Amino acid sequence: MSHSENCIFCKIAAGSIPSRKVYEDDELFAFDDIHPWAPVHFLLIPKAHIASMAQVGPEHAALLGRMLVLAPQLALQQGCQPYPEGGFRIVVNTGALGGQEVHHMHFHVLGGPRPWLKDRPV
Ligand code: 5GP
Ligand code: ZN
Repeated sequence: MSHSENCIFCKIAAGSIPSRKVYEDDELFAFDDIHPWAPVHFLLIPKAHIASMAQVGPEHAALLGRMLVLAPQLALQQGCQPYPEGGFRIVVNTGALGGQEVHHMHFHVLGGPRPWLKDRPV
């Protein structure tokens, strides 16, 4: 498993920085965003350090597939109402112009009753 020195999300996945854990398995970790934009707002990350979606290659296809399968399950568990009346949003900010601040690839999963608190370009 590759880790990057001084990467805050590698440290969160390893448990050396505390977080409110939503989910964990061998490959993936999910935790509540420290500054939520919506009533449900957690981050789903691979434990292995991948800087962003711009670094993703064919070798990551299975991992990304697992993330996309898991995100809706966790969204319901975390309080999002079912589709189609409910639902959720998955956002993956990538690079400076994509609004990415933490350079360890992560899915934002956002949901819950609107209006959402923070006005972000999502
Ligand atoms: P980005 O702008 O990179 O897409 O999103 C980074 C997200 O990580 C932000 O929503 C921010 O609130 C969250 N975040 C940054 N540092 C921490 C932290 O130490 N703990 C948690 N739980 N979330 C963090
Ligand atoms: Zn990392």
